Parts: sequence; C-alpha cells; structure tokens
Amino acid sequence: MLDLLQQIVSKIDGKIALSFSYQAEDTAVLHLLSQCKIKSLEVFTLDTGKLFDECKKLHKETEEFFNIPIKKYLPKIDNVKDLERKLGDWGMRESLQNRHLCCHIRKVEPLSRALKGKSAWITGLRSAQSVTRSELKIVEYDEKFNLFKINPIASWSDEKLFDYIKEYNLPLNPLYLQGFKSIGCKPCTRAVKDGEDIRAGRWWWENPEHKECGLHIKEQHG
Ligand code: SF4
Repeated sequence: MLDLLQQIVSKIDGKIALSFSYQAEDTAVLHLLSQCKIKSLEVFTLDTGKLFDECKKLHKETEEFFNIPIKKYLPKIDNVKDLERKLGDWGMRESLQNRHLCCHIRKVEPLSRALKGKSAWITGLRSAQSVTRSELKIVEYDEKFNLFKINPIASWSDEKLFDYIKEYNLPLNPLYLQGFKSIGCKPCTRAVKDGEDIRAGRWWWENPEHKECGLHIKEQHG
C-alpha cells in the first residue's frame, strides 16, 4: 500500500489535504502518509462544536505523536446561532431535513473552506464501513469539490485496520474501548452492541442508506 500511495501522491501537482476525524482509519492513513514524500500536506479536522471530549484529547496526542499540526475548521458563528435558535440542542434528530441542515452548517460548509485550493483530498474511508461506501475506489474524482479524492485504505477490513494500529502502537480514540465502532458528533453517535453494523451507532434513528453527513456524497446524489 505504501508504494502505491507514494506513487499516487507523487503524481499530484499542488496541495494535498488529509481529513482527520479522530477515527482509527485516519490515524492509519496519517501514519502511511508520514512515510511518503509529500511536498505540501495539510492535516485538518472539522471542529463541529459537538465533539466528544475524547476526540479533543486525541487531537493533541496525535499532533505530538506525528509532530504535525492538525488545523481546525469551525462552522461560521452566525450560522451556528441561527441553527441553535431553529433546532435547539436535539432538533437534528427530529427529521432528516434538520439533520442535513446541521451537518451542512457544521461540516459541509467548513469542509468546502478546508478543501479550497487543494488538488487532492485524502480520506480514511473504507468500503466495509457501510452500504453507502461499498463502491469506493482508491482514487476517485470528486466533482462536488473538484479535486482528486484518495482513499488509500478503501479495501482494508476491520481486522487489518486494528492490527495496523496495534503493530505501530498508534494513538487510538478511547471511545473504541467503550463500544464505539465509528466516531462522529456526540449527539449523533452511540456505542454499538456485538453483532451490530460498524455504523449502526451513527444517526441510529435513520435508515442505513441515509447515513452520510454530506461530506462524501457524490454531486449527482445531492
Ligand atoms: S453529526 Fe449531528 S451534531 Fe454533528 S453536524 Fe451532523 S447533525 Fe450536527
């Protein structure tokens, strides 16, 4: 994988960004990238204002471990004020429309700023994560953000991912030890029971085919 990733990133002209969302996948990808020669890499996170305390702690640990800054992109304050007036603390659970509005303001709009001027976006997406990601490729073109999207561990299984984390003793979000298998915002993420799907704890009140926040949806799907 490392050789292939090096070949891919060496062909990218311009700035490359890695989105970091406090999940084991992102840490594994950051570790792979740390072994590649890259001219210009920005590691960033979307600080939605609704993160778990464990994620805030991991932010610092990861920066220290890799000796690299993780830039925070925050939602616009006026948008958040309007959103909170409209939805209160829990309104995102009342309808798909409300949830999409919250994800748009807290995630999608800041993401569009994070990706502005970048030539490629590297992610920790895996096809095993959900039905919405089963068609994932290692290199795609993202028409919505108009850049290459690189998913180096698209084909990795859960086992391969956590073996990798263990092998290199990489920082791991303690939420995994509490039964979380996918990590997002606090109001919209819960631990899962044995046998439940990896992303069953994300927006658990919705149908599986709706479980994306708008960051990884192709343009033609809105
Ligand atoms: S995951 Fe939940 S809290 Fe976070 S932006 Fe989306 S709706 Fe809002």
